[in-house]
Amino acid sequence: MLDGLDPEQREVATALHGPVCVLAGAGTGKTRAITHRIAYGVRAGILQPASVLAVTFTNRAAGEMRGRLRQLGVGGVQARTFHSAALRQLQYFWPRAVGGEVPRLVESKYPVVSEAASRCRLRLDRTELREVTGEIEWAKVTQTVPEDYPAALARAGREAARDPAEVGRIYAVYEQLKRDRGVIDFEDVLLLTVGVLEDQPAIADQVRGQYQHFVVDEYQDVSPLQQRLLDLWLGGRESLCVVGDASQTIYSFTGATPEHLLTFRARYPHATVVRLVRDYRSTPQVVHLANGLLAQARGRAAEHRLELVSQLDKGPAPVYAEYGDEPAEAEGTARRIRALLDAGVPASETAVLFRVNAQSEVYEQALADAGVPYQMRGTERFFERPEVREAIVALRGAARFGGNDALLDEAVGLAAQVRAVLSAKGWTPEPPAGSGAVRERWDALSALVRLAELFTESRAAAGAEATTLADFLAELDERAGAQHPPTVDSVTLASLHAAKGLEWDAVFLVGLAEGTMPITHARTEQQIEEERRLLYVGVTRARRHLTLSWSLARAPGSRATRRPSRFLNGLRPGSAASPRAAGAGGLVAGIERGAPGAGPGSGSGGPGGGEDRAPVRRRRVPVRCRVCGRTLTDPGEMKLSRCEDCPSDLDEALHERLHAWRSRQAELLRQPAFCVFTDKTLLAIAEAVPGTAAELAVVPGVGGRKLARFGADVLALCAGEEPPSAAAETPEEAAEDSPEK
Ligand code: ATP
Ligand code: MG
Repeated sequence: MLDGLDPEQREVATALHGPVCVLAGAGTGKTRAITHRIAYGVRAGILQPASVLAVTFTNRAAGEMRGRLRQLGVGGVQARTFHSAALRQLQYFWPRAVGGEVPRLVESKYPVVSEAASRCRLRLDRTELREVTGEIEWAKVTQTVPEDYPAALARAGREAARDPAEVGRIYAVYEQLKRDRGVIDFEDVLLLTVGVLEDQPAIADQVRGQYQHFVVDEYQDVSPLQQRLLDLWLGGRESLCVVGDASQTIYSFTGATPEHLLTFRARYPHATVVRLVRDYRSTPQVVHLANGLLAQARGRAAEHRLELVSQLDKGPAPVYAEYGDEPAEAEGTARRIRALLDAGVPASETAVLFRVNAQSEVYEQALADAGVPYQMRGTERFFERPEVREAIVALRGAARFGGNDALLDEAVGLAAQVRAVLSAKGWTPEPPAGSGAVRERWDALSALVRLAELFTESRAAAGAEATTLADFLAELDERAGAQHPPTVDSVTLASLHAAKGLEWDAVFLVGLAEGTMPITHARTEQQIEEERRLLYVGVTRARRHLTLSWSLARAPGSRATRRPSRFLNGLRPGSAASPRAAGAGGLVAGIERGAPGAGPGSGSGGPGGGEDRAPVRRRRVPVRCRVCGRTLTDPGEMKLSRCEDCPSDLDEALHERLHAWRSRQAELLRQPAFCVFTDKTLLAIAEAVPGTAAELAVVPGVGGRKLARFGADVLALCAGEEPPSAAAETPEEAAEDSPEK
């Protein structure tokens, strides 16, 4: 357990009793040190697994911790977010503490805040609604009641979103509305747990009897409310280990503060305090950039910054890429990712990180067009998703009554059985059009299908004869118990906030233009500093390949008014010279403009090297609707070259044939259908009915690659003929690939 740790990390792992505080930069092995600490303590018989509670802040990070513990062979340790740990306790103790069931959790605060505002005769636009909701959240985690909000705001030196008295009134009505409806919000979960533990000593004793050792990852982001809950769990005991990095404080807008981390020593004078500076995650090139970003930081967190020292061999220089507009940036990013995948970087080791979720759509589209599988939100709380629960119930039913159903004949194979059961629940082999909730549901069910396939393969490799539905259900149970969701080999699209604590071989930080990074609504110096830290978190997610990009305009044809993020000044080549960047000697590549590969950095730093070279720089002109002439900005509409609601001259029969052909291809390639062509591209083909390769090539979404791969088939379909690929396939092959048919 201790072999894989350096001397300082080992100090953390072996200090099993007293309070321990680790202050260290990104990638220095904080999470590794605490997971090894737990594993070591369990193996040494000093810690009982069930008596350890490890907490962190995001579901993804909690999942990462569970995964690492599982790899170390430690089961039975609770690794959760504060929120899920509290919710669990609340659900368990509510009947005894209050009676009945825990009130329902509201999915979103916005409708309730909006209603509260109207009751106060105030109208909020979208931005105001977001700001007021943010203020209510801040007030709750700082434990400020509505009447005290204006005074607390002034005390905290926080900039008011609008008249503090008004916000206080909306806050009061919001709380009343929730009470009237018997619902609670996210923060109430913590507040109520705190309330139960404070008011009911017997329950507090029971919780403390269960959990005796506490570990907190990402402690820089603890809010006063979470700290209070932690103190209640501890009940004066000192078996506490916290790790954090003040330079990664990215939730202070919600009331989190690194003060708890920075003053740990003052609260526990005899604590073991360990500092780690060796960075094991990233190459010297990535670390140099991370250090450069922090060198310009100001404020309390910056006073405690630690210069990181990479332990890895040198890698490619970070690539800076400038594009004309957002779709071009997304396409360029997708092209680079494709080149990386072709060069052997796994899709699951690649991430595109952005500032706000709204940025994701254009990337989803571009990745789909490039045939790159992606997943939007990781697989957090996978087993709690309603569709996954329903699917498991259906699978159980099928396992019980399967004997009567021909489809569930064992000879058919597990994967086909799972597909058959899920099809009855509305799952289709190809994804639905568009993104959003429908797409997420499909992704979740598809992950189950994929898991069934992998499970069968791994059992066959281990020499098992036939894998039954019952075996698979047992595997699902085990995974659900260990909260070990299936991983999908796909590129991750995530917000910078959600990426905390995680790492990938290749990271693309996109949209790094003023207005997005820092975001427009960051106004005060503290808010700007938080944005800088957010970018630091992004940079330090990369192990080896790091690409930073921005675009000069939003849509094709709009004015190029944007500037690259101020945080890159002095780091980005050609920006106001800073001694750091100038003296970097090989650590910084040039900026690539427009088409990737065109810039001076492509040779030394561009991922995928020459393969990524796009020889022609396409001039971008506004795309207009071919029916009504309106300028299009939505990526999907741009692909269709018309507004979504303008009349279409679609060849319905061809569209259907293309769909059927695509499903077949997707099955053969064992890839999601959108990797062949997206729905939008299929529509565009069925509308254009291209007669030649040249005509097909200009349909948006059909690049050179796809033309070479699928061109002959598509042109044959358009000409009303059999696609050549169908003729090439033997009936046996076809039967093997679609056993359920
Ligand atoms: P963050 O601040 O981003 O959460 P962290 O400090 O928690 O980072 P880890 O995620 O624990 O860092 O470690 C970063 C990477 O370095 C991981 O891949 C980890 O396995 C590796 N690593 C850490 N310590 C060592 C070590 N002593 N030897 C080899 N690899 C290590
Ligand atoms: Mg970590």
